[in-house]
Amino acid sequence: MIRNDWTKEEILDIYNKPLMELLYEAATVHRKHHDPNKVQVSTLLSIKTGGCPEDCGYCPQAARYHTDIEGNDLMSVSQVKAQALRAKSSGSSRVCMGAAWRNVKDGEEFDNVLEMVRTINKLDMEVCCTLGMVTENQAQRLAEAGLYAYNHNLDSSEEYYKEVISTRGYQDRLDTIGNVRKSNVTVCSGGIIGMGESLEDRAGMLVALATLSPQPESTPINALVPVEGTPLEEQQKVSIWEMLRMVATTRIVMPETQVRLSAGRTDMSREGQAMCFFAGANSIFAGDKLLTTPNPDVNEDMEMFKLLGLEPQKPFEKKSQPQSVSAEESQHKPLGEKPKWSRPGHTIERNVEAKQKAKTKV
Ligand code: SF4
Repeated sequence: MIRNDWTKEEILDIYNKPLMELLYEAATVHRKHHDPNKVQVSTLLSIKTGGCPEDCGYCPQAARYHTDIEGNDLMSVSQVKAQALRAKSSGSSRVCMGAAWRNVKDGEEFDNVLEMVRTINKLDMEVCCTLGMVTENQAQRLAEAGLYAYNHNLDSSEEYYKEVISTRGYQDRLDTIGNVRKSNVTVCSGGIIGMGESLEDRAGMLVALATLSPQPESTPINALVPVEGTPLEEQQKVSIWEMLRMVATTRIVMPETQVRLSAGRTDMSREGQAMCFFAGANSIFAGDKLLTTPNPDVNEDMEMFKLLGLEPQKPFEKKSQPQSVSAEESQHKPLGEKPKWSRPGHTIERNVEAKQKAKTKV
């Protein structure tokens, strides 16, 4: 049975169990709901990099911070198709396209993204997008194009979110997830640990995710990769033990969700990753880059799979392939909406400092 009434106290009790007990319980839940030898492999493709107007304290793509990333305009449909074919031939079942936007805007660029979705769907791969906030109509248009999943991370607890981002509110995240839920697209939502949050915040994020009904089909657990020039550049990296506890706890409270090891995997040994798979992680991002941060080489991952006897999950094992409707036959036309996503605008000292520092470097 899937519970949607988890409390922070219950989740903290799970997180803090003696490790062996926690791992055993998580592995037991995992085996009841999933084939423990299958891992879903996604490739993350940054289709529009950098220049983002938001102030997410962990992100090198925010225009206001001074980082080394090279920005690029929206990729073309043919470029995306070539990359998707490459991902497919190296064993990925899903392509996740990320654009550094605050929110989706109706117009030519979004129409191009819809065409990318149709193109990848035709390659018989699962297609995911992470494009910022979306309205219900935009989610319906993505669904109609054949989108399988939409990613929109909660990042942290509602309380700690305010310490990291000031340009949009937590409720916008939840509303976007709600808009996606009204379509036939599955929800991918998770967060980041290692941003200076407390254990209560980690539990708070899991409460927010696990009490969604239905729960997200996919939950990425990222370990912060501190990037020079961002407000969180000085954060200590999280240990494998914290990652293990987070993965195992997520598995227990969200039994059917695909729990994904995401950013920070380059810092994990094979032994560490193996423990995470044992504790219920059953999805990874493949490819040498995760948007802008490093990721293990795909050949290394395939070697690790061989060593551990893991198999890549085939596409559409969990849900059937969505039908893709052409632009001409679309029933959902652009509405040209101008939704008022919030802009709390409170002061986050370290974000302000990083912005000022960036100005002096330009
Ligand atoms: S995380 Fe996304 S929304 Fe936030 S600054 Fe980076 S690209 Fe923009």
